[in-house]
Amino acid sequence: MASSITALTRLVHLTTTPSTKSNPKPIFTYFKLKSSYSPIISSSSPSMSYDKHLTAAKKAASLAARLCQNVQKGLLQSDVQSKSDKSPVTVADYGSQVLVSFVLQKELPDQAFSLVAEEDSGDLRKEESQETLERITKLVNDTIANDGSYKVSPLSEGDVLTIIDSGMSEGGPIGQHWVLDPIDGTKGFLRGDQYAIALGLLDEGKVVLGVLACPNLPLESITSQTQGAVNRAAAGCLFSAQLSCGTYMESLDGSPPVKVHVSNTENPEEASFFESYEAAHSSHSLSGSIAKKLGVKAPPVRIDSQAKYGALSRGDGAIYLRFPNKGYREKIWDHAAGYIVVAEAGGVASDAAGKPLDFSKGRYLDLDTGIIVTNRKLMPALLKAVQDSLKEQALPSL
Ligand code: AMP
Ligand code: MG
Repeated sequence: MASSITALTRLVHLTTTPSTKSNPKPIFTYFKLKSSYSPIISSSSPSMSYDKHLTAAKKAASLAARLCQNVQKGLLQSDVQSKSDKSPVTVADYGSQVLVSFVLQKELPDQAFSLVAEEDSGDLRKEESQETLERITKLVNDTIANDGSYKVSPLSEGDVLTIIDSGMSEGGPIGQHWVLDPIDGTKGFLRGDQYAIALGLLDEGKVVLGVLACPNLPLESITSQTQGAVNRAAAGCLFSAQLSCGTYMESLDGSPPVKVHVSNTENPEEASFFESYEAAHSSHSLSGSIAKKLGVKAPPVRIDSQAKYGALSRGDGAIYLRFPNKGYREKIWDHAAGYIVVAEAGGVASDAAGKPLDFSKGRYLDLDTGIIVTNRKLMPALLKAVQDSLKEQALPSL
């Protein structure tokens, strides 16, 4: 049976993209059959507007959020579902990736398309995954049909696999690449806590826009007292940022966007800090030591996912500390959208040595020890506390 998506688009190798060390594989891209074959041309210039891209990204992330919300609702209502059963998050993860890729291509039909995303279809192509693939396909088709914006015949399972693999781009310093984490914070998703659909756009290796859909994040400020209280009736938040245009927040059900700004406190005693809920993702003891050195009084706010960047961008807290175990390599999709959401709200992110984050090196961030985020006034003192704590940690214990 001819598939509807292949009637519209075709997966090709973009052989004109130069092969660099960090970008050894050809980039996969979709293009409309009627349009001519074209390389992904860079358009990065100070006056460049990404308005069209931002509108498409917001639509894509919002629709993916709707799919995830429905799966999470079912997961939390189900008595039978065992906590260790990872299948709901698998279904939502792939489903979210398909929707984002589908919407971006539908909304930007004249643009060459390159996507760096977390998932690929390898596991789904195995025989034992047939039922999961059927569930994903149904979920995606139902979400598109309920939304009503796209008059297309239902996607086939083959289409779904092909669209998932549109996310296999290597990114890099040349041209434009979308960067997607379809569900950031899968542990939070399973627990019924925070998670995010995180979508960024790189142009010539720089993040130029980002969207964070945070379905369980309340519009009101989140603190150490309220971090565990997820209001499931709340609509959730959508953060969006474009280079030189600021960061905005709206509710996922479409309230008017409001401009947000990071906390401008210079006083560490007033500055609460965010970190991972999962101690395996970031050392709680190291961040505790840094906070103490800095003079932070409030207990940490521990939530999952890039919702931390969103909360920081509107001043819920003033600092985000992330210190994974040695050897862990951070992926660009875990930070690209969050990074620009905070940067455009007046914040600054760097590695633990104070170097700016570099998203141009392919699928991984190449960085030193950890990631720290705060406002410009607090950064020097934070960097000092980080360096002192890291030095102490490196000393052999007596
Ligand atoms: P968070 O919710 O902020 O703790 O971060 C969630 C992200 O952490 C996930 O999307 C994973 O990509 C990433 N992650 C997974 N394992 C680790 C690890 N061992 N250390 C640091 N980050 C991790
Ligand atoms: Mg992630």
